Amino acid sequence: MGELGVITALAGGVGAAKLLTGLAKTVSQKDMVVIGNTGDDIELYGLHISPDLDIAAYSLAGVVDEAKGWGISGDTFHCLDELKRYTGFGWFNVGDRDLATHIYRTNLLRQGYTLTEVTQKICAALGVTAKILPMTDNKFETRITTKDGTMHFEEYMVKRGAKDEVLNVEFFGAETAKPAAGVTEAIAEAERVVVCPSNPVVSISTILSVKGIREALRETAAGVVGVSPIIGGLPVKGPADKLLRGLGREVSAFSVAEMYADFLDFFIIDRVDAAEKSRIEKLGVSVKVADIVMRSLEDKVRLANTVLQA
Ligand code: GDP
Repeated sequence: MGELGVITALAGGVGAAKLLTGLAKTVSQKDMVVIGNTGDDIELYGLHISPDLDIAAYSLAGVVDEAKGWGISGDTFHCLDELKRYTGFGWFNVGDRDLATHIYRTNLLRQGYTLTEVTQKICAALGVTAKILPMTDNKFETRITTKDGTMHFEEYMVKRGAKDEVLNVEFFGAETAKPAAGVTEAIAEAERVVVCPSNPVVSISTILSVKGIREALRETAAGVVGVSPIIGGLPVKGPADKLLRGLGREVSAFSVAEMYADFLDFFIIDRVDAAEKSRIEKLGVSVKVADIVMRSLEDKVRLANTVLQA
């Protein structure tokens, strides 16, 4: 364990991966635990796909496709093209090298390994020394209701391009899901807990909906630091605005702070949102104003340092 102790991060997809990359340049990966969202997990072509766990693993392994924010750099899509020929659909992008991860994962899950164990094996093979834990090993699925009905989150997001107005968000499985082994311990024993700039509705709230995780965050002695995914009233990427509106919430850094206020000690917001500082502080959360858009590696490392120093 390094000087700082263990840093435990709650993570969704692309925003989280950027901050995790910065953190891994600042502290040893061995001192990092990542609790990943599995609400986006989906079975396609008979394969179990865990998009957010893979984005974290590929990012920490240094093989992520930086331009897309997901998948493996330089990957090709020949297998998906052939699958489209057979099945007539191919809306979920699975690259050829990426496919190996899903085949390996699915095979091990069928042999009886838990998602936690499989994720550990994937990380070991990729040379990732941070511990990536799924939030739960149990079946969990985020479902979105639009005027056309209720569908898997990925169908709303990828197949339909997140264009629909969101009428409802449901976490199927949250009633019975248990935190995966090590999750609440990683929160309790951390030196610092980081709530990554991830979608507050379908990445972080999913993790928080697993019974015991929110309580662990409230009780931990560690400082809990969040980074806003909303800058100037808009997400940097993705449909967080539509989802927040669907829950009847305002789209702002304040709104995200309000969702986490019961366990958050510090919230890092962008300079353009400096006017929200006093409103957020009234929630009992200390606020740090900084540059929180991560374009370059330098930006990621700078924000990681701000998070560690908060
Ligand atoms: P998605 O909305 O389903 O794509 O959810 P993800 O959990 O993958 O994360 C997307 C979130 O990350 C969005 O709300 C973005 O605003 C946020 N995000 C992406 N890049 C950045 C960044 O550079 N800085 C900050 N602060 N947030 C970011």
